Amino acid sequence: ASEAPEHDVVVIGGGPGGYVAAIKAAQEGLKTACIEKRGALGGTCLNVGCIPSKSLLNNSHIYHQILHDVKNRGIDVGDVKLNLQQMMKAKETSVTGLTKGIEFLFKKNGVDYIKGTGTITGENEIKVNPLEGGEVQTVRAKNIIIATGSEATPFPGLTIDEKRVVTSTGAIALEQVPKKMVVIGGGIIGLEMASVWSRLGSEVTIVEYLGAIGGPGMDADMAKTMQRILTKQGMKFKLNTKVVSGDVSESSVAVNVEAAKGGKAEALDADVVLVAIGRRPYTTGLGLENVGIELDERGRVIVDSEYRTKVPHIRAIGDATFGAMLAHKAEEEGIAAVEYISKGYGHVNYGAIPSVMYTHPEAAWVGQTEQEVKATGKEYNIGSFPFSANSRAKTNLDSEGMVKFITDKETDRILGIHIIGPNAGEMIAEGVLAIEYGASSEDIGRTSHAHPTLSEAFKEAAMACYSKPIHA
Ligand code: FAD
Ligand code: NAD
Repeated sequence: ASEAPEHDVVVIGGGPGGYVAAIKAAQEGLKTACIEKRGALGGTCLNVGCIPSKSLLNNSHIYHQILHDVKNRGIDVGDVKLNLQQMMKAKETSVTGLTKGIEFLFKKNGVDYIKGTGTITGENEIKVNPLEGGEVQTVRAKNIIIATGSEATPFPGLTIDEKRVVTSTGAIALEQVPKKMVVIGGGIIGLEMASVWSRLGSEVTIVEYLGAIGGPGMDADMAKTMQRILTKQGMKFKLNTKVVSGDVSESSVAVNVEAAKGGKAEALDADVVLVAIGRRPYTTGLGLENVGIELDERGRVIVDSEYRTKVPHIRAIGDATFGAMLAHKAEEEGIAAVEYISKGYGHVNYGAIPSVMYTHPEAAWVGQTEQEVKATGKEYNIGSFPFSANSRAKTNLDSEGMVKFITDKETDRILGIHIIGPNAGEMIAEGVLAIEYGASSEDIGRTSHAHPTLSEAFKEAAMACYSKPIHA
């Protein structure tokens, strides 16, 4: 207790968790700083994650649609050529616009933006190594929020060079369309990146250790449907298969795989291999050991329900700690952590955090999977409705997928909603709200949904739970 702390709140990391926490803290009237080392705000999500991947997904979808889909809509086009450089430029323009936007919001709200690497050196002290060189700066803080995010989990034996053996960071910046691509891991990153490059002309093979794609949390029906749809789009899947090793040469990579439970070995040739086997919390160089803050066996900062570490005024949020590694989850925690500081209470409903996979069609879900509900022993109802019976999806010639509701048989309360379909990522918002408010399927089924919209499929799936849908 020597000198008075300079800031009420110092946030380390300027990703969706950190920058949202910083803005919220400033809005609460707290003197706030945010330390970020990458030279731009927005973290993984804006710089090398959510935003650049969605730019490539959107534009590769348009390209693929022009090549393969517009003719039967009555649109004849001449020569269609890919300009990958321009596609990357469009991506960069979106990224820069958004990261600069956060800088503007920092100014508007009076957040001090400190560019450099932060290391916790005492319970109220952070040393910052400035990005642009120069003397180490000492920042004092009454409260610290750790929001340092995550990094790609490396694959043992395959050295990442971000050219031939890439993580998602290399996969969103390839200079050429690889002729052949092998993706290790059939989770969300694997499937989104496989979609981009397959649409642009790569032959993509996805190797997944488990018996289903989609990563943890995807309902088994949905994973199966998605695999069928993506296979039709040209992707190849090797499930129940493990990668044993890789041989990298000047011009190609051979990925040696075998059946997960032991069996025939095989070598898959590729120009580019994407390692997408998950992400791990990033706390390197943060100095947690200086204040005795502990990590669990997976490297996550251990926190209590108010995001407090062992040192109560040092909190941790987002990818660096427990829970789903999602930008909107990090943002909710950023706000809640600040509210615990400023008001003494905060709120995140972990049962109502949506997941979206931005393939085409999209997959989106919230709440429990059928497998999770079954495991609880609870009796349940299923109501589903296919987009092939929805007028708008039919009119748009975009009718693959379905909506599936899972409800408590006794009370009709909605336990989970799973969608594969066009714009599923927007549609799931209604499901999140329903779960947040404890709605029943009948609440949704008796709510008017505009005609003709895709959302009518949502209503009819709800009707299928407690009664019958009209159009199927
Ligand atoms: P991060 O965004 O990782 O930010 C942490 C920041 O802290 C980084 O900028 C880092 O430079 C900085 N930092 C670390 N250590 C220090 C230090 N000591 N000093 C100063 N700064 C430091 N999620 C979604 O919800 N939707 C999506 O569509 C989506 N798409 C994704 C696509 C890809 C390819 C990837 C990789 C991820 C995607 N995610 C998506 C996940 C999402 O990016 C993360 O969940 C989110 O970014 C986590 O936010 P965060 O603030 O916890 O950490
Ligand atoms: P993931 O956990 O979603 O999927 C990894 C997959 O790799 C799993 O299916 C796993 O079984 C498989 N796997 C693990 N080890 C393997 C091995 N040795 N061989 C073969 N397969 C193996 O992880 P991810 O796709 O890398 O994504 C990382 C994180 O980023 C996730 O938490 C995800 O939620 C987040 N993210 C979200 C979005 C989105 O919201 N749209 C997009 C991208 C990333």
